[in-house]
Amino acid sequence: MSELRYDPIKQTWVIIATERAVRPTHFHRREEMVGEITCKTCPFCPGNEGRTPPEIMAIREPDTAANTPGWKVRVIPNKFPALSIESSRKRYGRGIYDVVSGFGAHEVIVETPEDSLQMVDFSLQQLRDVFFVYRERLKDLKRDERLRYIMIFKNYGLEAGASLFHSHSQIIGIPVTPNMVATELVSTREYYSLKERCMMCDILDQEVQEGERVVINQEKFIVYTPFASSFPFELRIVPKGHSHDFGLTDEDTLRHFASVVKEVLQRLRKVLNDPPYNFILHTSPPQTRRPGKPDYWASIENDFHWHLELIPRMTMLAGFEWGTGFHINPTSPEDAAGFLRDAEIEL
Ligand SMILES: [Zn+2]
Ligand SMILES: [Zn+2]
Repeated sequence: MSELRYDPIKQTWVIIATERAVRPTHFHRREEMVGEITCKTCPFCPGNEGRTPPEIMAIREPDTAANTPGWKVRVIPNKFPALSIESSRKRYGRGIYDVVSGFGAHEVIVETPEDSLQMVDFSLQQLRDVFFVYRERLKDLKRDERLRYIMIFKNYGLEAGASLFHSHSQIIGIPVTPNMVATELVSTREYYSLKERCMMCDILDQEVQEGERVVINQEKFIVYTPFASSFPFELRIVPKGHSHDFGLTDEDTLRHFASVVKEVLQRLRKVLNDPPYNFILHTSPPQTRRPGKPDYWASIENDFHWHLELIPRMTMLAGFEWGTGFHINPTSPEDAAGFLRDAEIEL
């Protein structure tokens, strides 16, 4: 049974996930975790549906039964969840320490039935289907008032934390608000209360005007390298139209999102030679009523602007980064944007 613990000195939560209890030798050589996985043993391949917990949702061919082949995108509970939906959410103190029981959701989205096809090579329809599933799972999990945040993310490549090659993303619903999310919520809310403008909308205006950090500027999305990028080739993919909640994304925007993500991944592959990466969807949290904080979400629809953060994993965190929380980035965001813009790709 896992639990969330709070570090009062660092002011940060951590999940102690004992479901995954491992012996010290497990950490000796990480590559061995992946082992030799073939389509016969891959739990995400069609025909092996029985190797996973029963599916939560799927996009399927008509007349195919749940947990059998015939799906295009399939969502399943994580077999080794960091948090479990079955346990209840309890807060308690243990001496001076704060603990929250390991309640939460941990799901896997298998993005394609094809074992070796990676997201960058998906058809636009397949990518749209994946993002449609993101949206539907987000909407569903937001109904659970015990969850404070729902995070959708993807790890691609061993160095980015992917333990299976078969293309997939993950959803974790957490019973507390993570620090990084809280920081974004507070800074955008404070900016709005001062100026009555959305900070991200203002950033987009300025980035388009200056142009040097813009990688893609299409009808509905802008992709740019943040002014203070922590990592080389860090990217933000942002809808031009203001919207706080990815769960409200319409069909047309989903299709544009698919095409812009595909283009970004193609440009990254060309420039960085198929880098490992993480992407994380930043969207508004469930607006659960907070006792004692009646105005907590008062301006969220106006102040927060959903976006996808994408980080190629080109550098290792070293002592300086761990000690200070800030990063030394060897590539300026202006140079990175230039390389990505100039990459010759077939669209
Ligand atoms: Zn597979
Ligand atoms: Zn905005």
